Amino acid sequence: MVLDAPGRPLRPVERDVPEPGPGELLLEVRACGVCRTDLHLLDGELAFPGPRVLGHQIVGVVAGEDRRVGVPWLGWTCGECAFCTSGRENLCVRARFTGRDIDGGFAEHAVADERFCLPIPDGYPDLQAAPLLCAGLIGYRALRMCGDAQRLGLYGFGAAAHLICQVAVWEGRRVCAFTRAGDEAAQALARELGAEWAGASEDAPPEPLDAALIFAPAGALVPAALRALAPGGTVVCAGIHMSDIPSFPYELLWGERTVRSVANLTRDDGREFLALAPQVPVRTHVTEYALADAGRALEDLRAGRFAGAAVVVP
Ligand SMILES: [Zn+2]
Ligand SMILES: [Zn+2]
Repeated sequence: MVLDAPGRPLRPVERDVPEPGPGELLLEVRACGVCRTDLHLLDGELAFPGPRVLGHQIVGVVAGEDRRVGVPWLGWTCGECAFCTSGRENLCVRARFTGRDIDGGFAEHAVADERFCLPIPDGYPDLQAAPLLCAGLIGYRALRMCGDAQRLGLYGFGAAAHLICQVAVWEGRRVCAFTRAGDEAAQALARELGAEWAGASEDAPPEPLDAALIFAPAGALVPAALRALAPGGTVVCAGIHMSDIPSFPYELLWGERTVRSVANLTRDDGREFLALAPQVPVRTHVTEYALADAGRALEDLRAGRFAGAAVVVP
């Protein structure tokens, strides 16, 4: 399924099976998670270099082998820049991303640089493993940015939040889940996964928060989350794109509150999270779509028509 240009529908295309280059693996795609970043690419909110197969949460089997690997968003880094050489390859100035700069997983086959493939933990079926590869590990990186915050707010309870809620509760943190007003399905899922409170984004939590993770792409949530924060608390914007952040009075930031973003992932984030997931164990709540329905999966994500994560299966 190819995106020709932003704003166009995904289009089915027949292609030859791709040839892996040196150091690359040819994968038979078993499942590929759907991410809000795919929707930002579709909507032209991120730079899009041209016709491309989207999808960057690929669970695949190496062609001709009995080996399953995961392909995340970070598809290639230079290894030489100031960021790469200081443990921050997520910020690499020449990074190439799966499903944007490299064809992704809304396809029957994919090619990936073996050095950037991640091990899929045993015990996770393909469908359940796929959302771990972006929703899970970006969520995990965002959670690490909260330090040892005890009272955690999750704004936007979708693919990432439903996974990271489980990790946070397992670590002994207390979770409040914020959703679109009236999204009963997401609020019910949050409570089922251990959140002690679930409500609308504009509601005040029962107690001030030590940290807030914003997964929804709405800039208005930044002052809303700051308002819910105790002094010294942190707001982490975990998405790759957000609508503009409205201005807000300085007193919301005062008291040593912090606002920061999380960008991409490092391979270490991936390995760490995928080793942790089976210990919790993190369970993924998945809605399955056929490959030909990848475009519909994206529209359902936009409209909030499913709880948890969507996965495309060729
Ligand atoms: Zn993603
Ligand atoms: Zn680099």
